[in-house]
Amino acid sequence: MSTYFLSLRIKGFGNTSLFWGECWMAVKSGWWEMKRSLSLKEDDYIPLTSALEVLYCPRNFYLRYVEGVDVKDWKMERGKVEDEQRRKTVYIGERVQRRQMRLVSDKLGISCLIDAIEDDGGKIYPIEFKTGEVSNRLYDRAQLCAEAMVLEDVLGVRINKGYIYYAESHKRIEVNFDYKLRQHVMEAIELAHDILLGNTIPPPLDDERCRGCALVNVCLPDEVTKLKSGYDKVSAYTMPVLWRERILYVDDKWAKIGYKKGRFIVEKGSGEVFEIPCEAVNQMYLVGSVTISNRALSSALRRDIFIAMFSSKGRFEGMFIPERNKNIDLRVAQVLFCRDEGKCLKVARSIVYGKLANMKTLLLRRNRNLGSKRVLQSIKHISALLKALKSKDSFEEILGIEGEGTREYFSAFGDLITVEGFDFERRSRRPPRNRVNAMLSFGYSVLTAELVGIAHAVGLDAYIGPYHRSKYGKPALALDILEEFRPIIVDSLVLYMINKGVISLSDFDIQESPQRFVFLNESGRKKFIRQYNSRMNSLVKHSLFGYRVSLRRILETQMRLLGKVFTGELSEYKPYRAR
Ligand code: SF4
Repeated sequence: MSTYFLSLRIKGFGNTSLFWGECWMAVKSGWWEMKRSLSLKEDDYIPLTSALEVLYCPRNFYLRYVEGVDVKDWKMERGKVEDEQRRKTVYIGERVQRRQMRLVSDKLGISCLIDAIEDDGGKIYPIEFKTGEVSNRLYDRAQLCAEAMVLEDVLGVRINKGYIYYAESHKRIEVNFDYKLRQHVMEAIELAHDILLGNTIPPPLDDERCRGCALVNVCLPDEVTKLKSGYDKVSAYTMPVLWRERILYVDDKWAKIGYKKGRFIVEKGSGEVFEIPCEAVNQMYLVGSVTISNRALSSALRRDIFIAMFSSKGRFEGMFIPERNKNIDLRVAQVLFCRDEGKCLKVARSIVYGKLANMKTLLLRRNRNLGSKRVLQSIKHISALLKALKSKDSFEEILGIEGEGTREYFSAFGDLITVEGFDFERRSRRPPRNRVNAMLSFGYSVLTAELVGIAHAVGLDAYIGPYHRSKYGKPALALDILEEFRPIIVDSLVLYMINKGVISLSDFDIQESPQRFVFLNESGRKKFIRQYNSRMNSLVKHSLFGYRVSLRRILETQMRLLGKVFTGELSEYKPYRAR
């Protein structure tokens, strides 16, 4: 504390008047009680701007501060640049402004960065700089008042007013720190500390405020409210429709990826070069012998770009993951949940239900014009399994139902293929023995890679899942979510590409020894990825929530909802079901 005090005085601030007679205000507004009851350590001090988030929405505070959700917002980025420019001491006539002062208050348990502290002939005022036009926002006034209260604690002075400078209006507005405003600040800070101590996420607002909230895709106010209320509540806001991901897919022998001035430079084996701005890429898929420079790699990771590596035969090998989410509590909750067999069983049943229901939907859809009796028989069998699943209460029984349903589904799958040369009798995985299996395997690999990336992006561990628990060394959580999406994303895409002639026999290579192995060659993989990406970005009507959204966004939402089951915010996991 004294360090701040001394530095303020030495660097040109005049004497300050003490306010012993005013201590009644501090006592009345609860400072001392709060500090005593919280017994805060310095590590528990909350940055002021975070604490005041509770004025807008307590859940927003929890997500940003406790869960560490970091959503880039252009306004904040711009603010940062301006902050850099402001860092100096300014003399305005008799007044001295010390800019960008970082202070902490033991009494309030908060830290803050004050834009400027002005010394006007010995009188001290906090000043805030805002980029917009003059406004009477409570948040702005509360922030300034809280800064004054921190200064009072540090300097031992009484500060009755401060100023907010609005850059667009070029106006400096005086704010008086009356009892009501101080009380408001105290309540906000106390609530922030209470939320931290309780470590429980506050319920979503699910009202007009959510429309302009940058965290809406992470918080899922509409979805959580609906799932908790049994779908009774009407949506208060509309989900953003556009959600496009751009994949840089490089599958060219000896291609090299470099970086120069904000662009990825891809040099193909043939010497041909093309460039792409880094901002135009969200994910990178590198296949076979493609190499990437250290600069390109770190530039990608800095921009939150996931890099998935595949073997030259299309097998998912691993991933470079940006250091994006540091929410330890969520991972601890995930581990504890996945150690509880009873809880895992409930989720496993839902996952298998979603998978079988979506298999049935795909068979129904694709058989509409074909009218195959074999397919109708499988649909009937899967319907019976779905009914039986509800009463199963052991992992063995659930696995048994899943195995039986999957065998039944694939026994009918071949009937949905109408093009010669693409025979399919049953699923063969390692290695795929025919073209259809080669496409299915490649598709599942790509989707698994995407789900591993999503799991990490939302703060979960991709290797710990409630259903594929026993799969040592496998991305169990990604495989869990994969189950309900296999039929409606990959299987459906494979049928489309074959039946519409998008893929041909020449898009495959066959290796006969030591055993038969069929795989998509370079041109086949490129065609597949193009179709896959356009399918993932296509908009569908969400079966649970009713809004139109991309399949890619649905994957992420399901992963986040499962995360909320891990933390206990939701009591059950609802799988996504295609209509
Ligand atoms: S989306 Fe709504 S409930 Fe969620 S953090 Fe934002 S304002 Fe709060």
